[in-house]
Amino acid sequence: MSAADNPSAPVPPRPLLRASGITKRYTIGNSLFAARRRILTAVDNVSFDVMPGETLGLVGESGCGKSTLGRCLTRLHNLSDGRLEFDGRDIGDLSLSRLRPLRAGLQMVFQDPYASLNPRRRIGDLLAEPLRVHALAKSSEIETHVGELLESVELPADFARRYPHELSGGQRQRIGIARALALKPKLIVADEPVSALDVSVQAQIVNLFCDLRDRFNLTYVFIAHDLAVVRQISTRVAVMVLGSIVELGEVDEIFENPRHPYTAMLLEAIPEPHARGRKTRDRRATVARELPSPAKPPSGCRFEPRCPKAQDLCRTTRPLLEAKGANTLAACHFPS
Ligand code: ADP
Ligand code: MG
Repeated sequence: MSAADNPSAPVPPRPLLRASGITKRYTIGNSLFAARRRILTAVDNVSFDVMPGETLGLVGESGCGKSTLGRCLTRLHNLSDGRLEFDGRDIGDLSLSRLRPLRAGLQMVFQDPYASLNPRRRIGDLLAEPLRVHALAKSSEIETHVGELLESVELPADFARRYPHELSGGQRQRIGIARALALKPKLIVADEPVSALDVSVQAQIVNLFCDLRDRFNLTYVFIAHDLAVVRQISTRVAVMVLGSIVELGEVDEIFENPRHPYTAMLLEAIPEPHARGRKTRDRRATVARELPSPAKPPSGCRFEPRCPKAQDLCRTTRPLLEAKGANTLAACHFPS
């Protein structure tokens, strides 16, 4: 009997976002001389699903392609290759005009909210703009909507009359979040939204993200390099090296039982509250050293030049991202 014959059979949930083989290449070098042009593969064949209500944390060191991937997922970048489905629709190569009505459902929050807020405009105008552009509210209702948006990010309504420079970093990020919320999105891709904030403020903003997720049934892709932040907010975690995902799994599996040597190194480098000061710094240096360029990646495993467990197979054959446990995928020939 098929599911159609039995309407009471549970319908498997559909991923809200489905990335299949997402690839983004940049052309670098001298644009006038073809011979000097080179291709840099910033995101290399990345696939994953994001289920409704979950938060996929995306981690990896600077330059590994997190922002590029985030921008591909929200179609701020065109894809060089791969398929992207959002809410059951293929949006991978929709034109900008056909994408516009879907954009509302798929928003991005950036690291530096100041850069994305026009300094000459009041907060109220900045929050009203997406409502006007998408004709989501009548002009008579806009003020109420703006007040509600401010309330949802825990700011007083009179902030509508202020300018961005009058706000603290944390308050500006709240405005960045309110702007993303204005269009009632289903998915928010947040690109290091707390990295530029003081540690005490970071916790408040992460808590706000958690509260908003529950209140508005949001789904997040949450990019961060701070693993403590990722652990606090994520249901699953994807670890990136040089444009590829090397490990993907449930948050507790990743933190308690990492399979990929790079994930293990990242976890070891987390500074602990007490002691281990020097050792920690030394370990961090190990992770950062000899970063290969995505314009000239190693021929086998992307992590091989830095891997303490590397063997001949790792130099010649690139490992696939495969199941290495009930809730974990890893791309490693010799996983833990
Ligand atoms: P992350 O966010 O993880 O720090 P990015 O996505 O910003 O990484 O960058 C990934 C790689 O792509 C880096 O090597 C970076 O130098 C390169 N890159 C990013 N944007 C561009 C661009 N517009 N043109 C050329 N190279 C780029
Ligand atoms: Mg980035």
